Amino acid sequence: MSSETFEFQAEISQLMSLIINTIYSNKEIFLRELISNASDALDKIRYQSLTDKSVLEEGGEEFKIDIIPNAEEKTLRIRDTGIGMTKSDLINNLGTIAKSGTKAFMEALSQNAGDISMIGQFGVGFYSAYLVAHKVEVVSKNNDDEQYIWESSAGGSFNVTRKEVFPDLKRGTEIILHIKDDQLEYLEERRIKEVVKKHSEFISYPIHLHTIAEVEKEVPADEEESKVEESEEKKEDEAKIEDASDSEDEEKKGKTKKIKELEPKDEVLNSNKPIWARKPSDVTQEEYGNFYKALSNDWEDPLAIKHFSVEGQLEFRSLLFTPRRAPFDLFESRKKRNNIKLYVRRVFIMDDCEDIIPEWLSFVKGVVDSEDLPLNISREILQQNKILKVIRKNLVKKAIEMFTEIAEDKENFTKFYEAFSKNLKLGVHEDSQNRTKLAEFLRYNSTKSTEELTSLKDYVTRMPENQKNIYYITGESKQAVENSPFLEKLKKRGFEVLYMIDPIDEYCVQQLREYEGKKLASVTKEGEIEEDESEKEAFEAKKKEFESLCSSIKEKLGDKVEKVVVSDRITDSPCVLVTGQFGWSANMERIMKAQALRDSSMTSYMVSKKTMEINPDHPIIRALKDTPADSNNFSTFATMLYNTSLLASGFTLEDPTVFSNSVYNMLKIALSVEDDVSTNDPAAEVAEDEAAADSKMEEVD
Ligand code: ADP
Ligand code: MG
Repeated sequence: MSSETFEFQAEISQLMSLIINTIYSNKEIFLRELISNASDALDKIRYQSLTDKSVLEEGGEEFKIDIIPNAEEKTLRIRDTGIGMTKSDLINNLGTIAKSGTKAFMEALSQNAGDISMIGQFGVGFYSAYLVAHKVEVVSKNNDDEQYIWESSAGGSFNVTRKEVFPDLKRGTEIILHIKDDQLEYLEERRIKEVVKKHSEFISYPIHLHTIAEVEKEVPADEEESKVEESEEKKEDEAKIEDASDSEDEEKKGKTKKIKELEPKDEVLNSNKPIWARKPSDVTQEEYGNFYKALSNDWEDPLAIKHFSVEGQLEFRSLLFTPRRAPFDLFESRKKRNNIKLYVRRVFIMDDCEDIIPEWLSFVKGVVDSEDLPLNISREILQQNKILKVIRKNLVKKAIEMFTEIAEDKENFTKFYEAFSKNLKLGVHEDSQNRTKLAEFLRYNSTKSTEELTSLKDYVTRMPENQKNIYYITGESKQAVENSPFLEKLKKRGFEVLYMIDPIDEYCVQQLREYEGKKLASVTKEGEIEEDESEKEAFEAKKKEFESLCSSIKEKLGDKVEKVVVSDRITDSPCVLVTGQFGWSANMERIMKAQALRDSSMTSYMVSKKTMEINPDHPIIRALKDTPADSNNFSTFATMLYNTSLLASGFTLEDPTVFSNSVYNMLKIALSVEDDVSTNDPAAEVAEDEAAADSKMEEVD
């Protein structure tokens, strides 16, 4: 019976001392967490038993949770007949394996004025036991292993020992909390009932509370002596007997009397009737809220609820919730998704059925209870099941209805959009069937709506009659796009431009393509902006006038640009770089560069050739037109213009050194600095870059 000692993983150890030392008053949530773990463990063994009955042989077929307070020993025991833990489960799950939630939870605590009740959402609920206990023991028995006991008083380490503490624990787990002296209220029957009622009412296994109660018993008068041991109690009882004898049972079959005895009492605390099986009109908001909290580990009420049933060829009931906040690990792809619990005729089947709801809806929580699926369905068969596909389709439909209801209240929708806009956009990208509906939920800032987000619908109502397309610009931030040269002309024409500043917008808009029959057009791409009929003639004339400048610049820049053309979209800047209609935008290029694992062959294929557009009305361009194309200055200026417009158009510089050198070069020109023939001549480097050697600064003025 040798005991092994293990160190807690560093962050867990930190978390534990934080929990132990907290002055946080709402400590009761520890019980919710431990009951929730018991319920999870019961779910697991029940699910296994659906396909393999033999897993219940050793530990029996009763699925339940027992709570056993003991005021004398100052212990609170919570036992379940769940799946139990093997030795290595105990070591891994309760202390040595790092969890991403540990750190995230501690960070959330420091920001959120310390609300410990959030703990369950971060996947470290077990440690909340240390809110009320100075020492915790976990006795566990899994079918695949012997009984073990885990034990820790925190302080950085725990022990695991092979020991049959409870011979009657054939399968499952018992947590023994050694309650701190100032938390003894959690050993009181009244308090336990209150906490279970509040937080664990909707656990789908019976929660038994075991207490020792004084009960009144009716016994034949002559048995009295043998039953009651203490004489003081006897006196009390005799007083009672007299009372009783006043009543009607005096006449009845001879002499009986009532005595008090200490007897174990076993009371089920939760109602156990699934809330989704009830009529929506019979369920209160508070009940929904409590059910949601138990289901999701959330500490706040949901933002929206959808309770519905589907009847006909296929039958199921469902209850869906939209949380108020996004979980800390919403898009963590390694995480198993378990937000929709699947039941078959009230029996829990699984909570990680990937196909029951699409990924973009992974933030929606709830339950589905099917009348049609077989109970012992295997995961693999379920994935291909037609019934499941119908359920999924209905869940999506109802979830969208739920969001439409949220959208009726502006304040709620703002909250919702802040938390889940990425999901909605992912939905637009992935769900072609619901794309049009989902587009109604999209909101953006724009040139005409800089503070509040605007919907596409509102955008359309603001469109001038002569505007055909819906315009947008993509970029890294509002700041980066709102002063972009690409907006200059459109602003003058009175055309609103939407700011799409979330990386996912690039993907979303590519799929959306149009709204209410109006094309979504990128202002940074070629051929997307409708022509300005009123200026058509003047524009054609300018094209002619600047034709040769365009070709001279193209010659200097070579492969860097596809072509150089006169621009119709800028009024204040000398030039911009636009990308091809089907290639990546500057923003997309930035996003792809940031993704380390990109496929480089794909990159070179998708990186758009850039077109340089010059502004014929800009003094720099006009001056450049009068500069001889074969002069060194022309070459320097053209390169400079190219590099600067790269930045202004949202690209990153290919070679920052070349760029800064050409800036120094320009400064020299501006300051009329004589060129010293140093080896580090920046001008020479620029010239080298342009394959034109022997730069002579003397020729400059
Ligand atoms: P979570 O429940 O979110 O996984 P917890 O910190 O509450 O996080 O529990 C950690 C893990 O410990 C659980 O995932 C489970 O593997 C194990 N565990 C805790 N309590 C029990 C129990 N009563 N029976 C079986 N396993 C348990
Ligand atoms: Mg838990």
